Amino acid sequence: MRIVLLGAPGSGKGTQAKKLMADEHIPQISTGDMLRETVATDSPFGRKAEAVINAGELVSDDIMLGLIRERLGRADCADGFILDGFPRTREQALDLEKLLDETNAPLDAVILLDAELDILIKRLTGRRTCSLTGKLLNIYFSPQEELDAVIAAGGQLIQREDDNEETIRHRFDVYQRRTEPLADFYRQRGLLRTVDAAGAADEVYARFRAALA
Ligand code: AMP
Repeated sequence: MRIVLLGAPGSGKGTQAKKLMADEHIPQISTGDMLRETVATDSPFGRKAEAVINAGELVSDDIMLGLIRERLGRADCADGFILDGFPRTREQALDLEKLLDETNAPLDAVILLDAELDILIKRLTGRRTCSLTGKLLNIYFSPQEELDAVIAAGGQLIQREDDNEETIRHRFDVYQRRTEPLADFYRQRGLLRTVDAAGAADEVYARFRAALA
């Protein structure tokens, strides 16, 4: 199964991709996670990427295409993958199409996770990661016991640097200008399926699975 997840920041791409990965045993390829791993190495490229991410801008297509070509060439992608956060521009979408044509392995579906702006903002401003387990939590939606348990275990609730209101606004703007047009790009190719991304993760996942069926 070769799938692209499209959707605004906060639409739940990462959460849904992880659920599908667990059920289908195909890798979640999150270009945001890949870039954050590079940032953590504190290399010259990592420092550049960090500045771009924290400004809510996009890393250049050249760099992203190099990263994704290398990643999709690895053995664990032979039976499929879930792309989360790539493509984000028309250039990236065209290059992905070319790459998959070369290997005769076209996409099966593109799922657009669709939710209202107020939901997206609450998900992003409330998003935290447990410093001990890496689990994603939300100060507005996660059960209070679960949030308290992180602190009780000596952990911290970490907020992403780019999840502040000013950067979030800019990320939405970039999404609308650069990424939203990809819905039409994939609609024209008969690949697009839209899923209502409002509500709890499990409810969205049920709709996501139904859209893939
Ligand atoms: P995400 O975790 O998907 O929200 O991505 C976090 C940030 O990483 C984005 O705001 C961009 O700065 C950068 N990024 C992730 N994926 C891409 C991509 N496909 N093209 C350009 N920049 C990206």
